[in-house]
Formats: sequence, structure tokens, C-alpha cells
Amino acid sequence: MESQDQRSFVSRRRVLKRLVALPLVALGVGATLSTAQAADNKKQFHYQDKPGPGGKKCAGCRFFRAPKGCTIVTGTISPNGWCIAWAKR
Ligand code: SF4
Repeated sequence: MESQDQRSFVSRRRVLKRLVALPLVALGVGATLSTAQAADNKKQFHYQDKPGPGGKKCAGCRFFRAPKGCTIVTGTISPNGWCIAWAKR
């Protein structure tokens, strides 16, 4: 039969194990999310393949990298596209 001290010790040990495991799980989830977001962040920046307000286009944005790249939005983009990060060249 376990004494009160033994049960208390086991309980503390379980709590400590969980406290140590939580940040590791959070790190794993965070790494997975950032990898997924890095793979495609078009949604995050509301990217569209057509010009934005006032006819603004990627081709006129300081972040545009010819022929179809961007320093902010990942993947292939259109020179005629637009996103909320648009900034005049
Ligand atoms: S930041 Fe947005 S608007 Fe500018 S080039 Fe990249 S996708 Fe186009």
C-alpha cells in the first residue's frame, strides 16, 4: 500500500513530465505550421492573379522579382497579380 508521501511524489513526477513534454509538443506543432505556411502563404497575403485596387499589379511592386517571383509571397506569381503587401516600386 502506498503512503501519502509516495502518492504525492508520483503525482508530482507526472506533473513534471507533462510540463516538460508540453513545450516540446508546442515546438513540433509550431515547426509544422511554419513549414506549411512557408510552402504557401498566398492565402495569408490575399494574393490574387489579377490586379488589385486602382489597377495595382505585382509588376509595379517593390517586392516583385521578375519574371514570376516575389520576396514575400511564396511560389509562382503573376506580374499582373496583387496582394495586400503591395508597395510601390
Ligand atoms: S508583395 Fe504582393 S503585390 Fe508585391 S510582388 Fe509580391 S505578391 Fe505581388
